[in-house]
Amino acid sequence: MSGKELRIRNQSGAEQSPFYIYSETMQTTMNYEQRLSPHFTLGEFLRSGTAIRHNIRNVPSAHPQDGLTNDELIANLTRLCTEVLEPLRRRVGRVTITSGYRCKELNARVGGVPKSHHLQGLAADIYVSSTAMAERYAQLLRLYTPCDELIIEPVGDRRKRWVHVSVKQK
Ligand SMILES: [Zn+2]
Repeated sequence: MSGKELRIRNQSGAEQSPFYIYSETMQTTMNYEQRLSPHFTLGEFLRSGTAIRHNIRNVPSAHPQDGLTNDELIANLTRLCTEVLEPLRRRVGRVTITSGYRCKELNARVGGVPKSHHLQGLAADIYVSSTAMAERYAQLLRLYTPCDELIIEPVGDRRKRWVHVSVKQK
């Protein structure tokens, strides 16, 4: 495989981390530091403790049979950040993602439903430290974002630990 290194400068002229492009149309190497919106980076949606423990490469290009490209994932995650996560962050401050994108293998490992929006990068699980915090986040998401699925989880558990939110597929 031959790739050329690109160094990108942002508007202020500062050099950002390099990434590699192997074809004109598909980015095959993901840059975890890539900014999707002012407060969220790609790495936050790819990292997974379960993936590390089971040696699963949680990027679309490593799972062509899943039918999603890296570029499609980045476009979906960017929408999720812009339409849902940034508006929430403006109201609550720091937002911690506990699960973003999941390849099929990882989704099966964590017990996700087969058609989960996590498979397309259209859903995120947001950390909450209490049931009250979960309810407040859900209310803000309902009021201020065009979110599709909104689930306070774990369902059936008295103590809530995360909020699942998604945007509709276009
Ligand atoms: Zn979820």
